[in-house]
Amino acid sequence: MRITRIDLYQVPYHLSQRDYAWSGGHSVSGFLSSILKITTDEGLTGFSEVCPLGSGYMEAFAAGLPGGIAELGPQLVGQDPTRIRAINALMDNRLGGHNYVKSSVDIACWDILGKATGQPIATLLGGRNEDFHLYRAISQGTPEQMAEDVLAYRGEGYRRFQLKVGSNPDDDIARIQAALSVVQPGDVVIADANTGWLPHQALRVVHALRDRDYYVEQPCATLAECLAVRARALQPMVLDEVITGAAALIQAYDQRAMDVVNIKISRVGGLTKAKQVRDLCETLGIAMTLEDSWGGDITTAAIAHFAGSTRPDLLFSSTDFNSYNDTSLAHDAPRRQNGRLRVPSAPGLGITVDEAKLGQAVVSVA
Ligand SMILES: [Mg+2]
Repeated sequence: MRITRIDLYQVPYHLSQRDYAWSGGHSVSGFLSSILKITTDEGLTGFSEVCPLGSGYMEAFAAGLPGGIAELGPQLVGQDPTRIRAINALMDNRLGGHNYVKSSVDIACWDILGKATGQPIATLLGGRNEDFHLYRAISQGTPEQMAEDVLAYRGEGYRRFQLKVGSNPDDDIARIQAALSVVQPGDVVIADANTGWLPHQALRVVHALRDRDYYVEQPCATLAECLAVRARALQPMVLDEVITGAAALIQAYDQRAMDVVNIKISRVGGLTKAKQVRDLCETLGIAMTLEDSWGGDITTAAIAHFAGSTRPDLLFSSTDFNSYNDTSLAHDAPRRQNGRLRVPSAPGLGITVDEAKLGQAVVSVA
């Protein structure tokens, strides 16, 4: 099988509810999501989606996708998309970094491999589980607003809540207290600072709330700073932004820097590399949040196959991004029910992308 054509589309999404705000004064009301379609000489097509969280969150931005695909596309046409490791080796050889661009190609190749073999991607990634539980991200706001949001999403079935903190420590202490005051036994609260605290600020928060039951996620920007906080905090530590791949995971594990890691598919470069990091975590006994930076139906399907092929005892949580946006690109994409997401069972990503909604391609290579 050979790749004959690659098309990249960009579709604007708007958030269904209020703006999504997190540390550092970041706030977004919508996204430009990039949808890749790979066509083959055997009539099979593969889709993927990459949607950076604005341009200030990680080393990725929507306008980088067209340039990256224009650069890699001509070298990918003619290649066998089912030889995914060879595709990854070629991409790494021809383009340094830009993991999010490579992720779009890698996921679409997995979609084709699944269709070619008649198997859902989850089966190919290790075995398909029926479903898994989700967390809900709670946009940064006033303590009262965030507590209200937790209660509302609790009513929709979520039992895990990731609070966006990482600003003024006094405000953040009040935010965490407000959320903890409305959850029930068995619920899980994660205070995600998204690198927003300096160590002295993080220490104020964890000391003020030292006896409370919650997780701290990525308090500071660097591994060294997070380690300094961890040494003096009682709460379990989740690392996210610094987990950029297998090497970063090994370094963090070597320093016993975390109890849980957050693996984002496009940050590490696609499902192939995300699986490598995940499998390492399974071996090392590290629990995981498995997700991506943002996305819609296609990203949510990719997450479902990834999280839904992971050992349930090591899956800490995951995300249904398609419930945050107003745009659906696949009517049969998995949708949450009672805080859980079902893993598609049809071949590949197991969804039908509505191509009429994609508009004109912004890059086409044939
Ligand atoms: Mg995080």
